[in-house]
Amino acid sequence: MFLRVDKLQVELPAPKRQDPNAGAALQELLGGKYGEMSTLGNYMFQSFNFRSKSKLRPFYSLVAAITAEELGHVELVSNGVAMLNNGPDVPGGDEGFGGDISNAPFEAMKDIRSAASFYSHAGGAVPVNSNSMSWNADMVTTTGNVIVDLLHNFHLECGARLHKLRVYESLTDANITGREVCGYLLVRGSVHAHAYALALKKITGVELEKFLPTPNIPLGNIPECQKYLAEGSHRRLYTFSPKDYEEMRGIWGGGEMALPDDPPGELEVVDGLPDGGKIHDLTGVPSAFTPDYAPEEMFEIASKLYQKSR
Ligand code: MN
Ligand code: MN
Repeated sequence: MFLRVDKLQVELPAPKRQDPNAGAALQELLGGKYGEMSTLGNYMFQSFNFRSKSKLRPFYSLVAAITAEELGHVELVSNGVAMLNNGPDVPGGDEGFGGDISNAPFEAMKDIRSAASFYSHAGGAVPVNSNSMSWNADMVTTTGNVIVDLLHNFHLECGARLHKLRVYESLTDANITGREVCGYLLVRGSVHAHAYALALKKITGVELEKFLPTPNIPLGNIPECQKYLAEGSHRRLYTFSPKDYEEMRGIWGGGEMALPDDPPGELEVVDGLPDGGKIHDLTGVPSAFTPDYAPEEMFEIASKLYQKSR
């Protein structure tokens, strides 16, 4: 089962401006072929379907723990998309009135790439790619063969690295939110590719980690990756559990070292989860009926319910 924590895995900077086309670009990292829905779906169903779990504990634990991280990546990218569609944080928050809807307040929205993201989802994220094509279950591979599954996962993480680099290269430094998402996920994707390579090495003896980094751009070349490298994120895997999944130390650890292009050090499994960062408030827009045209009464009801809960 899963435990939910009301945080993002990392702190995201608020956008400097509303940019729904950048939000659409980031959707590729959510619902694209190699996006977070795909990594989550693959590892989650592989872990559910895993045969001989007890006897293959380190491999099962690795896939199961990374599943939890991927669910957090789905949450992180979704927040990034919604933040870019929402615009800068507003001190004090919500508008308290419906505004003038007679003068086409959303005229610009008919010209954005993924107009449905506004018309149907009010700028929220959904599991689609950058062209609003649905993510679907065909992206999930769970063969029952541990080596084939791990090899698929290795390919998936390398493909995800391509996605993230290309999306990063499509965002200017005005899109700080999107760049931060890409930078963090490039570091974590590198960890996952490395972990699946080591898992395959333990089984087959083939030093698959020598393929890395693929594509061949070191994390050190990407400014947004630097602070994560400095804190050692490239050497860490989390169990995402109070006391389970520590058997993956047999694969990630035991004297295995960081990749040669990255800051040196031993790989380590951290029990539990990262500190994480805050979830930004998305502003209510009454004229878009989010949460409603005149939300004051709802705010008042919620406030009374909150006080009752104290
Ligand atoms: Mn991921
Ligand atoms: Mn991953």
